Amino acid sequence: MKNLRNALLLKQLIQLKQLGYKYTSVTPYKEEEQNFRLPNTLESLSKQAMECHLCELSKSRQKVVFGEGDPNADILIVGEGPGASEDSTGKPFVGRSGELLTKMIENVLHISRSDVYITNIVKCRPPNNATPTAVQAHTCQPYLLKQIELIQPKLIITLGATAYHYLTGDETEISKVRGTLCRENDYTIIPTYHPSYLLRNPSAKKEVFEDLLKVKELMSKL
Ligand code: URA
Repeated sequence: MKNLRNALLLKQLIQLKQLGYKYTSVTPYKEEEQNFRLPNTLESLSKQAMECHLCELSKSRQKVVFGEGDPNADILIVGEGPGASEDSTGKPFVGRSGELLTKMIENVLHISRSDVYITNIVKCRPPNNATPTAVQAHTCQPYLLKQIELIQPKLIITLGATAYHYLTGDETEISKVRGTLCRENDYTIIPTYHPSYLLRNPSAKKEVFEDLLKVKELMSKL
């Protein structure tokens, strides 16, 4: 960085000399101080995400789906990425799998959906509901990590293989890790199946029921 600055300064001085200057009071090239830090409130972080064009998903999205819920929630739920209904409303999990997720929260955890915070690995809809690519997931990850830092949930529930994989970097099959607790940096994750998988495989509901009972028990002890 210093070399670049010196080279630019030298270039500027050579140009001035070519123009006939012997002495100059022109202020030398100054590198703009850039602030690369993400904002420290969910509201301003959300505003920044709304204007994000860091990956190609921004070209096809209708709305950025930042997340919603209690900003001080004990439980953070992380899905994969917005679908068509989420893309048109700007809210996470409002389609069919969202209805199932809401029932799971209310009927098993016995809390209201607004008591948790719900978000996704990517904040914009992948066209044709494709699985987010590694580049898309990693480009969007700073938003999720900042959400975690600001919300400070006691427990993070990841829904499906993609959410678990991109949050932890672990590629173990979801059927092997579901219902187990993993520590990641300063937070605890419990992976379970994605509601859209349950809509296709209703027999897996009993495993998710078990995982959520575990969540409930953990929460009662914290
Ligand atoms: N599926 C997801 O993973 N997230 C949503 O927000 C909706 C459907």
